Amino acid sequence: MSAGLNLAQQEAVNYMHGPCLVLAGAGSGKTRVITAKIGRLIQAGVAAKSVAAITFTNKAAAEMRERAKGLIGKPAKDVVICTFHALGVRLVREDGHRVGLKAQFSILDSDDVTSILKDAGGTTDANTARQWQWTISKWKNMGLSAAQAEEQAVDDNERITARIMARYEERLTAYQSVDFDDLIGLPLRLLRDHAEVREKWQRVLGHVLVDEYQDTNATQYEVLKLLVGERARFTAVGDDDQSIYGWRGATLDNLKRLPVDYPNLKVIKLEQNYRSTSAILRAANNVIGPNPKLFPKTLFSELGEGEPVRIVDADSEEHEAERVVARIQSLRANSVHKDFRHFAVLYRANHQAKPFEKALRKAQIPYKVSGGQSFFDRAEIKDLCSWFRLWINNNDDPAFLRAVTVPKRGIGHQTLGQLGVYATQYKLSLFESLFSSSLASLLPRRGHESLTEFGRYVNDLEYRARQTLGAEAARAFMLEWLKEIGYEQHLYDNEESESAAATRWSNVMDFVDWMSGRCGGQIDDTAGVSTQAEIKSLMEVAQTISLLSTMSERQQDQDLVTLSTLHASKGLEWPHVVLVGVNEGMLPFKLDDDDGRQQVVSDETAQRLQEERRLMYVGITRAQRSLAVSWTRKRKKGRDLVPAKPSRFIAEMGLDQSTAKEDPREKLRALRAEFAAKKAAGAAPEKSA
Ligand code: ATP
Ligand code: MG
Repeated sequence: MSAGLNLAQQEAVNYMHGPCLVLAGAGSGKTRVITAKIGRLIQAGVAAKSVAAITFTNKAAAEMRERAKGLIGKPAKDVVICTFHALGVRLVREDGHRVGLKAQFSILDSDDVTSILKDAGGTTDANTARQWQWTISKWKNMGLSAAQAEEQAVDDNERITARIMARYEERLTAYQSVDFDDLIGLPLRLLRDHAEVREKWQRVLGHVLVDEYQDTNATQYEVLKLLVGERARFTAVGDDDQSIYGWRGATLDNLKRLPVDYPNLKVIKLEQNYRSTSAILRAANNVIGPNPKLFPKTLFSELGEGEPVRIVDADSEEHEAERVVARIQSLRANSVHKDFRHFAVLYRANHQAKPFEKALRKAQIPYKVSGGQSFFDRAEIKDLCSWFRLWINNNDDPAFLRAVTVPKRGIGHQTLGQLGVYATQYKLSLFESLFSSSLASLLPRRGHESLTEFGRYVNDLEYRARQTLGAEAARAFMLEWLKEIGYEQHLYDNEESESAAATRWSNVMDFVDWMSGRCGGQIDDTAGVSTQAEIKSLMEVAQTISLLSTMSERQQDQDLVTLSTLHASKGLEWPHVVLVGVNEGMLPFKLDDDDGRQQVVSDETAQRLQEERRLMYVGITRAQRSLAVSWTRKRKKGRDLVPAKPSRFIAEMGLDQSTAKEDPREKLRALRAEFAAKKAAGAAPEKSA
């Protein structure tokens, strides 16, 4: 297993009997160490199912599984490769009964949480509810209960939020539901408070490997500590300079605590970067330079100096997008890496994608937006998922309300309101209330009949879903169900245009293919799950889907330019990268008391600036061969165009000004490409999206 590993990497891979930390800069092969170590452990006789590799995103898990399969073949499918949250689901499913959760609990998404909070806090204002949501999530990540949060509240606002949190938690228990933070918090409680649970999991998972360790939070640290126990057979890999989730509770203290909590910790540093040219690496090192050093690190590359990093300036965001597209076209004509998938356009915030999407469409360049609205956030997919959620957990009130009203089946708000009053009075879930004998006397006859009919139908479907095994059967089942509820007609009745309805319906069909593919039983490449041979019931598959954030697993083989937020680009690499919107106020994001010139700023501002700098560092280090950084002289602010300045980070990259500006020949090529793109666009007018 030493092929393609340097000595330091081999040392990390071969160290199997105690705690190990690999601390190294971007592109130095940390993730490669994790993948190779999975192979090494199995080669050394460790059972595949007792090796757990924890990644930061579902996409990273899918990629790691692919690589592990390449290394060790079939046993790779038994290795636990997943995110912290997915591991949490498994733990809670197996042992959640100890804290009163049934094995078939529901996982609420962010929208569900907002609506429950509206109800718990007695408001109709989504912004207020989201504010609470943010604070409650922060507390949960700190491991605080509602009572503890109230105790340590510093003002009335926090005290009120803590009380709403208590009501919110009561509702989650009643609905047999958990939110995303619970998927970390509950495993912590289970492992901490129940010795037999702790011992079981320590036995089950003998070796734990964690990627992107710098972005774990305090609760995850505790979970990890309890999981690995005294033997502490774990490997964490990370880079303090790439910690970019501080705003979500991730803490670098986790890195500092390791050597204290594990005095026998083996620390390994990697110094060679295998990803980027020297020109790119130098810019990255210059930008991160001013940040205080947690651990001294050096990073070098042997890939040669390479092309200079380019700065692109533009008049407006539209102009910027045109220039970036022209750059892509020009590089495609003149580089060895000329596939669309070799390019990424990275930005700070999702909304910045829009002008680039338009410009790429205009030039007929295929692209995907990652880290943006996920497939599962689409209304039509959520509609269907609400049915699954209801089968899994009859107490899931938000899911009940969605399923019973979409498509409309003649059950009005008034009837539902009365049902709600009844359910609250008898401490029942909405769904349970349907079957109470005393409900009939309270509701108009027709309303009551429609409701009980709906209830029976859900039960019948649930029963059938349990019996439905394998891809073929699952597909047939879903098509029949959609027909029975008249979902296609519902789309055509409710969408503004036929084409919008058709798009939604085709998403639904995509979803049917994908869901049924996951039920396995046959090789089904169209659904992108050719490895899934194990037969599962539709019910089993339904329970895990609310955790999957994108259909990206399906898209990875396609030849597409990537548009992504910087946060979602973590851990990934592309031959050609353009960082766009690198303006003061955007990257770094607007900091309250800092205009880039003051000597003295508040502690908080200084820390936020450090995180912004790390974000820029992450962006730069995604590039393998070529990097361009662009900024605009004007930016949109509401409806106005306001003057804008280049980010301070551009100057800090320390580029040689004589080469940083685009080379005139390159510019000419880019202009030609720009002209050709405009001409093509003129010939084939842009279709409305
Ligand atoms: P990041 O900090 O961005 O997550 P990383 O440290 O995890 O980066 P990897 O993604 O593992 O780095 O590796 C970066 C690139 O270098 C990958 O393309 C990988 O295949 C390659 N690489 C890693 N180690 C070696 C090696 N010893 N020899 C050749 N190539 C390597
Ligand atoms: Mg990595």
